[in-house]
Amino acid sequence: MIRDIPFRVAVDGPSGAGMSTAAKRIAKALSITYIDTGAMYRAVALKILSEGADIDDAEALARMLEDTDVDFIDERAVLDGRDVSDLIRTPEVTAMASASSARPVVRRKLVALQRKMGAKKSVVMDGRDIGTNVFPNAEFKFFMIASPQERARRRFAELAEKDDSPSYEEVLAAISERDYNDSHRAVDPLVKAEDAVEIDTDGMTIDEVSEWMLGKIVERLPEE
Ligand code: C5P
Repeated sequence: MIRDIPFRVAVDGPSGAGMSTAAKRIAKALSITYIDTGAMYRAVALKILSEGADIDDAEALARMLEDTDVDFIDERAVLDGRDVSDLIRTPEVTAMASASSARPVVRRKLVALQRKMGAKKSVVMDGRDIGTNVFPNAEFKFFMIASPQERARRRFAELAEKDDSPSYEEVLAAISERDYNDSHRAVDPLVKAEDAVEIDTDGMTIDEVSEWMLGKIVERLPEE
C-alpha cells in the first residue's frame, strides 16, 4: 500500500497512557520521524510563562505566536532556536500547557506546524487530536487508554525516583484534572476517532503494547 509514499501514524489518548514511549518505539522500528505534539504545547506554555503573557488576552497571545517557532532536532524540542527539552517537564509548565492548549490561537498555530511536519515524510505523531483533527486521513490511527489509577501509578513510579516527589493522591488528582480539561475544551477535545484502533493498556507492559501496535502497522505495509 504505502511504503513509497509518506504515511502517518496517529497515536492519541489521555496523559500517561504510554503514548510517547510506544510512539517512539514504533518510529524507531519503522525508521520514521517521531513528533511529540505535547512537547510543542509545553514549549509554547514555557514561552507564555517566561514572558508573563496573559492567556486570556487572545490578541497579545496571537502577536506572541507570530514570532514563535517550535521544531524538533533529533527528538529534542527547540523553541525559537533554543533546546528547551529539559525545561518543559516542570509542574508549572505542565499546568500552563493544560490551560493554554485550550486557547484557539495556540491550537491554530501548532496544528498548522504539525500538518507541515507530516506533509512530506512519514511520521508517528502522538497527542490528543491527531487522528481527529491534525491528520483525519492518517493511514494508521490508535487510541490508547488506561484507567486514571493505572496512569497515576505509572507516573508516581517515575516521579518517585526524583527528590520532593508528590504523593500518589496528588498525582492522581493532577491526572484527573488534565483529563477533564482535555476532554471538555471547546476546540479539538480529546475524543477517539471513529476509525481509530483502541488499546486498553491496563495490565500490559509497554513492550507488549508497542509490539502489538507495530504488528497492526506492519501487516498493512508492503514489503520493502
Ligand atoms: O502529552 P503532554 O502531557 O506532554 O501534553 C501537554 C499538554 O498539551 C496536555 O495537557 C494537553 O492538554 C496538551 N495537548 C493538546 N493537544 C495535543 C497534545 C497535547 O492539547 N495534540
